[in-house]
Amino acid sequence: MVIILKNNCDKMQLDRLTSWLGEMHVTPQYTHGVGQTIMGLVGDTSKIDIDMLRALDIVEDVKRIAEPYKKANRKFHPEDTVITLDNGAKIGGGNLMVMAGPCSIESEEQLCTIAEAVKKSGATVLRGGAFKPRTSPYAFQGMREDGLKLLIQAKKKIGIPVVTEIMDYAHLPLFEDVDIIQVGARNMQNFELLKHLGKTNKPILLKRGLSSTLEELLMSAEYIMSEGNERVILCERGIRTFETATRNTLDISAVPMLRSMTHLPVVVDPSHATGKSMLVPSMALAGVIAGADGLIIEVHNNPPKALCDGAQSLTPDQYAQLVGRGSARTARQGLRLHRGRPRQSLQGASRPQFERKRPRQQMDRGRLSAQDVYLSGLLQGEPRGAGTRLADQQFRLGRCRSVLEKS
Ligand code: PEP
Ligand code: MN
Repeated sequence: MVIILKNNCDKMQLDRLTSWLGEMHVTPQYTHGVGQTIMGLVGDTSKIDIDMLRALDIVEDVKRIAEPYKKANRKFHPEDTVITLDNGAKIGGGNLMVMAGPCSIESEEQLCTIAEAVKKSGATVLRGGAFKPRTSPYAFQGMREDGLKLLIQAKKKIGIPVVTEIMDYAHLPLFEDVDIIQVGARNMQNFELLKHLGKTNKPILLKRGLSSTLEELLMSAEYIMSEGNERVILCERGIRTFETATRNTLDISAVPMLRSMTHLPVVVDPSHATGKSMLVPSMALAGVIAGADGLIIEVHNNPPKALCDGAQSLTPDQYAQLVGRGSARTARQGLRLHRGRPRQSLQGASRPQFERKRPRQQMDRGRLSAQDVYLSGLLQGEPRGAGTRLADQQFRLGRCRSVLEKS
C-alpha cells in the first residue's frame, strides 16, 4: 500500500499516523519527491482500512499494491484447490464437476424424475432450490423445509450429492445433509451469512453478485475462508449489463481471470447467465473451454410448466445431448487444455481423464490452435437458423484446415 501525503503536511498528524501504522505492524518507508512525499507501507496491510486513511487531512491519496484478498489469492497458494465431496466426487485441479437439476423443487415426483435422468447422463451433483430468492414477494418462494426434505430423500434414494441455496443462517441446522451449500447472487454480500458459513465445514458455492466485480466476489470468499472454511467454489452466473436480449451477460473472461487471481474452483452457470435454454449448451461448453472447473445447469422435465425459470431449463434429453456431445468430443480430442492440466470428460468424475501423449515442443506449439479446433467442434450442431448454418460450416472447416496444416 502506498500513501501519497499532501504537501507541507502537519508534522504532529504525520507522527500520529506513523505510530498508528506501527501498532498495525506495518513499517512506513518514505520517498521524498519534488513537492510530494510518498509513504510505502511494508508488511501485511490487509487489515488497514483504506477509506479511513483517505479521510485523513494529511493524505492526498492511497493506492493498494497488493490484492486485499489473502486466503483466496493464488499468489500465496499456487496450486489449484481441489474440493472432495463425501462420496469422493472432486472439483478443481482438472476435475470437472457437473451439477444439474431443477431451479426449484416442486414435488417428489418432479425431483426424482429429474434426478434420475441427470444422474444417468453423468451429472455428479443434483441441484434443486428449496428456499428461493424471488424478485417478487408474490412469486413462488420455494417449498422451503419441505423441499429440503425431498432433496435429502432424493439424495439417499438416487445416490447423488446435492447442492441447494441458503438465504438465512438461522436455517443452517436444516442443511446438515446437504453436500454443497449455495449462496445466491443476491446474497453474495450478506456478510453475516458468509461469516456463519465460514464456521461450517461444508463446501460453499458462492455465486457472483448481479453487479459485483471479481475482486468483490473474492472478498466475499475471503469472508468465508477467514472464518476457517476454505472449501469455497466460485460461480460466474452472468452480470447485469445494458443488454436485454439475454437475462444477464455471461462474463466468460471472468473464468480465466478468476483462475489467475485465485486457486479456488470456478463454476459457470449458463442457465441464469442467459435465461434462454437455446443458449445454454453453447455457453456451457464455452465455459469449459475457458477453463471452468464445473457447470451448474437447470434441467426440468416439463419446462413450460416449471414454477420457476422454465425458459432457461433444459429438458433431460437436451441435457443428455449436451453432456454426451461434450464428453465424446473431449475424449476424441484428448487434449490437454488450460496450462496443460488434464481435464475430465463432461460426463462426470468417474470417467477416466484423457490425455494425448505428444512431445512437449509440439504440444506447446499447437495448444492455442488445438483449442480453436476443439471450440469449433464443440459448437457444431448447436441450434441455429438455416441461413447461418452454411456460413458456420465454412468457418469451421477453414479454421480446422488451417490448424491441421500447422500441426
Ligand atoms: C439459482 O441458482 O437458483 C439462483 C437463484 O441463482 P442466482 O443466485 O445466480 O440468481
Ligand atoms: Mn433458477
